[in-house]
Amino acid sequence: MLDVRPITAFHDNYIWMVRGAGEPRSVAVVDPGDAGPVLAALEADGLRLEAILATHHHADHVGGIARLVAATGAKVFGPARERIPVDCEQLAGGERARLDSLGLEFEVLDVPGHTAGHVAFVGHGALFCGDTLFSAGCGRLFEGTAAQMLASLEALGDLPDETRVYCGHEYTEANLRFALAVEPGNSAIMDYVKRAAAIRAEGRPTLPSTIGLEKRVNPFLRCSHENVKSSAERRAGRKLPTTVAVFAAIRSWKDTF
Ligand SMILES: [Zn+2]
Repeated sequence: MLDVRPITAFHDNYIWMVRGAGEPRSVAVVDPGDAGPVLAALEADGLRLEAILATHHHADHVGGIARLVAATGAKVFGPARERIPVDCEQLAGGERARLDSLGLEFEVLDVPGHTAGHVAFVGHGALFCGDTLFSAGCGRLFEGTAAQMLASLEALGDLPDETRVYCGHEYTEANLRFALAVEPGNSAIMDYVKRAAAIRAEGRPTLPSTIGLEKRVNPFLRCSHENVKSSAERRAGRKLPTTVAVFAAIRSWKDTF
């Protein structure tokens, strides 16, 4: 059993609050960029923060960790290859984050691209992927290469279709506008545009998504599809012989979209 709820932070960040089948009042949070809203949520429901998971070093994902640790003593799990603001259990791909009091365990995946040491956490049918995979989009390439990011996204795309995808930001509607520019004839994208607009009009998160949905709508998971390739080639004005070249072309197209 995994219960996940969003805590909104800043303009469009989500801090995911996680509960398992263990102690009913024990929770963990993923990527707390701001301590304030987490402390408020803990206080409102009488919850105890046992653990913090961090996917990468950007301040809007780790900025609240030091204050949360000082206030709660929570144990921190972070990426092995990045520096985050407090001492933590540093985890690399293939290792596990064990949250004993919550009865939860997550496998760590190395997903470089947005940052060089970005990790994701997967378990109990859920994926916490920080700024690597967004619904209908992906993170910018700040530290990694297109080839690294594509490999990271392909690894996430290999997870079971029903895996629930908890991303770090609410970017879905803007991403869908771009996805439709890449694939104007993709009816799954058109359907999702309507559904996302209705959800956002009610003030609810479009997340979690699923891997199955992302494989139908997300251009960055569809670089080997003919429609995406030809669209990228039209935009680039030349043939793109590899999937990495297609990915790089649509990533830089999105940067200025
Ligand atoms: Zn980031």
